[in-house]
Amino acid sequence: MNSTSFHPPVRTLMGPGPSDVNPRILEAMSRPTIGHLDPAFVGMMDDMKGLLRYAFQTEHELTMPVSAPGSAGMETCFVNLVEAGDKVVVCQNGVFGGRMKENVERCGATPVMVEDEWGRAVDCNKVEEALKANPDAKVLAFVHAETSTGALSDAKTLAEIAHAHDCLIIADCVTSLGGSPLKVSEWDLDAVYSGSQKCLSCTPGLSPVTFSERAVEVIRGRKSKVQSWFLDLNLVLGYWGGGGKRAYHHTAPINALYGLHEALVLLQEEGIEAAWQRHSFNHSALRAGIEAMGLSFVVDEADRLPQLNSVTIPDGVDDATVRARLLQEYSLEIGAGLGPMAGRIWRIGLMGFASNQRNVLLCLGALDAVLADMGAPTTAGVAVEAAMKVYAQG
Ligand SMILES: *Cc1c(COP(=O)(O)O)cnc(C)c1O
Repeated sequence: MNSTSFHPPVRTLMGPGPSDVNPRILEAMSRPTIGHLDPAFVGMMDDMKGLLRYAFQTEHELTMPVSAPGSAGMETCFVNLVEAGDKVVVCQNGVFGGRMKENVERCGATPVMVEDEWGRAVDCNKVEEALKANPDAKVLAFVHAETSTGALSDAKTLAEIAHAHDCLIIADCVTSLGGSPLKVSEWDLDAVYSGSQKCLSCTPGLSPVTFSERAVEVIRGRKSKVQSWFLDLNLVLGYWGGGGKRAYHHTAPINALYGLHEALVLLQEEGIEAAWQRHSFNHSALRAGIEAMGLSFVVDEADRLPQLNSVTIPDGVDDATVRARLLQEYSLEIGAGLGPMAGRIWRIGLMGFASNQRNVLLCLGALDAVLADMGAPTTAGVAVEAAMKVYAQG
């Protein structure tokens, strides 16, 4: 064995996450490691909690990053709010709703499924029916931005319905945070989790979460101990909670948190509304190019996420060949379909720092050239120009 340092290739990341990381974030992460109980670090963390409240548009006191990826944020919400014997209404319109069901079952609780076709938003009427039929339900869980399909659901209305039936809300906002309007306090969402590597454009491995006062009361009033020691918020609070004295719980991923802090400073500098607007604008340019080629979107326009564009693969075109050629010839990564959509769709991410004009034009030009070369039934040579028209109009 004579290994040498690993130097990854430089890629353009336009898949479902991770997205391109802003160099300012990578630079922040290379700063000196200090102790996690060092007053300077504690000060940075307090500042970060404020920045996270801004990103989530909330005043919730319990707002912090979980030291693990988005899946751990998901698990944090479920294991703290759901106890054995509880009933949880779970909406499923893609991969991640299925993971919520798994979480509910592993808590010893009963999931009541509200299923919608993949690629569609959650149907609020079906949710209303399910809550009427299950008056003992404690929680409504749904995915705000389904990354497996590119569908956006109406979190505000779903929250209104849930509260009218005395239910708490668990919302997966991994892909919406920083990319699509998300107003945690105004919409009264109780438990929300996200991820660092989607529209915040940070490196993977951290999960911002936020909990309402109502949710905190439920957690404090639990009959049983949270089955996960690491994710038990009652214990984590002694570490992340304010008040100066900090008890050791686990060693925070110091440098990763420098990165998230920088990502949130970048978001604050841009302004959250401007970030939402940028995602939407770059999506419209990409859409113009995709449609000019004769390709079509999986999700109806009204429910479409700007940061995750699912495009139907034309007949006779081999999914894996196209993605491999984009990677080899253009160093460009786009996403494959998941589950029943594998081989049928591409998922083109325009998340965070990756949502820019250069990437839109690179992706359209590369896809156009590869598909034309493969003899695909698409219109060649028009995609970039169609997108440029959108940019010219501004
Ligand atoms: C990416 C993603 C997750 C999981 O996040 P990880 O950081 O990969 O654990 C959960 N939900 C949605 C909607 C996602 O897009």
